[in-house]
Amino acid sequence: MDYDKLTPMMRQYFEIKNNYPDYILFYRLGDFYEMFFDDAVTASRELELTLTGRNCGLEERAPLCGVPYHAADVYLSRLVEKGYKVAICEQVEDPATAKGLVKREVVRILTPGTVIDPAFLDERENNYVLALSEKSAWSVAYADITTGELKTTLFDPEKGTDRVLEEILKVKPREIIVSKAFGGLHNDIMSTLSTEGYTMTTVPDAYFDPNQATPLIRRVYGVLSLEGLGLAPDSAQLSAVGGLLAYIEETQKVDLRHFEHIQVYQTGQFMMLDKFAWRNLEIVETLRDKRKRGSLLWVLDQTATSMGGRRLRQWLERPLLDTAAIEQRLETVDLFVNDLILRSEVRDLLKSVYDLERLSSKLVFGTINARDLLALKASLAILPDLKAILTDGDAALLNQLRGEIDPLQDVYGLIEEAITDDPPLSVKEGGLLRSEYNADLAELRDIVQNGKQWILDLEARERQRTGIKTLKVGFNKVFGYFLDITRANSHLVPEDYQRKQTLANSERYFTPELKALEEKVLGAEERITGLEYELFTEIRTAVLAEVSRLKRTADAVAAIDVLVGLAELAYVQNYCRPTTGEPGTLTIEGGRHPVIEKMFPKVPFIPNDAALDQDEQQFHIITGPNMAGKSTYLRQVALIALLYQIGSFVPAHRASLSPVDRIFTRVGASDDLSQGQSTFMVEMIELSHILRHATPQSLILLDEIGRGTSTYDGLSIAWAVVEHLSRRSGIRAKTMFATHYHELTELEGKFNGVKNFCIAVREQGDDIVFLRKIVRGGANQSFGIQVARLAGLPETVVTRARQILRKLEENDINNNIQQLNDLDKDLAVAPSPAVQQLSFLTAGQADGLISEIAALDVLKMT
Ligand code: ADP
Repeated sequence: MDYDKLTPMMRQYFEIKNNYPDYILFYRLGDFYEMFFDDAVTASRELELTLTGRNCGLEERAPLCGVPYHAADVYLSRLVEKGYKVAICEQVEDPATAKGLVKREVVRILTPGTVIDPAFLDERENNYVLALSEKSAWSVAYADITTGELKTTLFDPEKGTDRVLEEILKVKPREIIVSKAFGGLHNDIMSTLSTEGYTMTTVPDAYFDPNQATPLIRRVYGVLSLEGLGLAPDSAQLSAVGGLLAYIEETQKVDLRHFEHIQVYQTGQFMMLDKFAWRNLEIVETLRDKRKRGSLLWVLDQTATSMGGRRLRQWLERPLLDTAAIEQRLETVDLFVNDLILRSEVRDLLKSVYDLERLSSKLVFGTINARDLLALKASLAILPDLKAILTDGDAALLNQLRGEIDPLQDVYGLIEEAITDDPPLSVKEGGLLRSEYNADLAELRDIVQNGKQWILDLEARERQRTGIKTLKVGFNKVFGYFLDITRANSHLVPEDYQRKQTLANSERYFTPELKALEEKVLGAEERITGLEYELFTEIRTAVLAEVSRLKRTADAVAAIDVLVGLAELAYVQNYCRPTTGEPGTLTIEGGRHPVIEKMFPKVPFIPNDAALDQDEQQFHIITGPNMAGKSTYLRQVALIALLYQIGSFVPAHRASLSPVDRIFTRVGASDDLSQGQSTFMVEMIELSHILRHATPQSLILLDEIGRGTSTYDGLSIAWAVVEHLSRRSGIRAKTMFATHYHELTELEGKFNGVKNFCIAVREQGDDIVFLRKIVRGGANQSFGIQVARLAGLPETVVTRARQILRKLEENDINNNIQQLNDLDKDLAVAPSPAVQQLSFLTAGQADGLISEIAALDVLKMT
């Protein structure tokens, strides 16, 4: 583009825009924000605005669209919601007095991860901005600006980037920032993250530079050595934390002490739930339509506050491994389950507690208003009662949390003393404070209210003193208050009257008293608003000084809310307290699927047992027709394990559990299909991920592997997987494998720990009845045709399928099994792949095939 030809205004536009290439620039022009060129095209599409053009000096007109400035918020929130970043450029000079072009500057930046306006936020979810960095190891640091949380972790460099991506998926940041250099080095990661739909922001390398990060972090945390915080010098983690803080400071111009509680955690402290498991187990949203209803969180979330809601989600993201910590939570839940009165009292109290975390962030941002302070006061008012009713607890964790609750009575007292009961939203228009709070304020208010009366009193007194019956106090805008005396009475005017104005028939005077009164009354209104704002700012600063106490309290209240919510759930849904059993074992009696039993309360859910360990009960092969309930059974075992590790009761009659380090799932091919991979490819990617990462402490769920390929391929892969996982020298992770390959039931007895189970069905003539009960042994039939019939396949097709099935069954498939059993021997002579394939066939079949192939005329084929 030829910049020289541009009009002066467009030149200014580009000077600014070039500093914000990734942002949509809202350029203020009179009463509008205008967008030009690509920004205009994008914004007109996303906001359904009319795209027009403007002469810009070039041959072609500049594409243009705009929004009125007073309605800008609606448009801004829509853009941010869609993941765009916006820079707002204002006129910073008064156009009336400016010479030439009005000066303009970017005054505000809005990005998905840094918005604080409640209109843009979901109160039950954290709004994280995440910094990603790499320097021999990977690290992420993320913060929620609205709550002041900042967390960071470092990844084991040997484990590759999978874990990093999994962590990001769980954190679900609204925005990810990386340095320019990172973007150049890690194209692959960048494109993976953008296809996953994250808003990516590239910032200057300096943000992530340890030389800048170190002093910044020292300043924020008031420490000399960063190692005390758990951040190694010159590490990826240091860069990530520094980059994050620098970005927040730069875009938000906020006091970074808000983030004084940095949490450095190791992913190894928690159960790993990789992204497949996180999605497949439908922890926070359903697979199909991404809704909360139908997810585990939907069942679990009985919290009374939004802080509790967010905390519960965090617990699900990081289930515990430490049995003592699990037991501590369980103990508290237990206490609440057994004390119905305490539980309902606590829940009732919590319902009146506002979002203390977000209130503290408003304090930090200086956006708190008088109504927010009342919300804070109302919440603080609850806390002494809450502490009081929690006294009798035997549970150590609850005692600790109770101890952390600080009712901040000083803050309560201050707000109570100062703020009126019904203040306006604005803090600049007065009406915020009680008159008793400040003597000057009381006097000013008095003046305004009584001013008129005082004037009348003065008038009466002066009439009396002078004896002039017609003496009047008048007021006009130019001269203010005056004593009006007709000429006839001039001789009665006392000495201390001073002349102000002379009219045809009267003289106007003032006295020092009237003058003083005038000053008071006229200035009072204005001074009230000024004084109130000043006092309010002082109050705000005083409360801000206590923000760490407030945050610690919010933290404890959130945890109590989660625990009492879990107790409510356990009580209503009839869950039991699991016990911590032998390491490596999971024993469940009468287990249920927490979501399905709640989704379909009218259908009685049939409970089932499960017992897994790393020895005799290591690998369960579960057969049974489609629709029998295999997936449900697998998932319920995993969900029960997970619930235990967040410290929750579990949907079972009895359960003795031990922590698993990871849950892996390979279930139904699903959403990744949209990313251009075939079902089979997705299956195999997930499977290889599992086989590479599972440990003996893991729990693996395999639901139908090998479906997307030919039966023999699929069966062979499945067979090899069983071997790999349960060989003596194999991983021997606890595994549940649901399959329709009945052939696999042959493996029981061949490997220690492999056991067959099936889900019982009863035949009734041509139909089957699902009993939903898991029993020992393999299913002998797949009942596919019966299930198809239940699904409403036309009767002619069903009948024909039966005929075909009978034909196929006449070819003895048991032969094939024999072949599989002999596989070890075949492999010893390492036959070519083609022969390997053929080895599944009987000798007769193979011969037939070979001669058939030999007879083909290749030249005549296409
Ligand atoms: P499969 O994996 O064997 O095809 P699913 O696990 O998908 O079968 O279960 C099929 C349906 O049966 C599910 O929709 C579920 O609602 C119901 N179901 C499964 N297990 C039970 C159970 N134990 N009690 C009641 N209903 C169940």
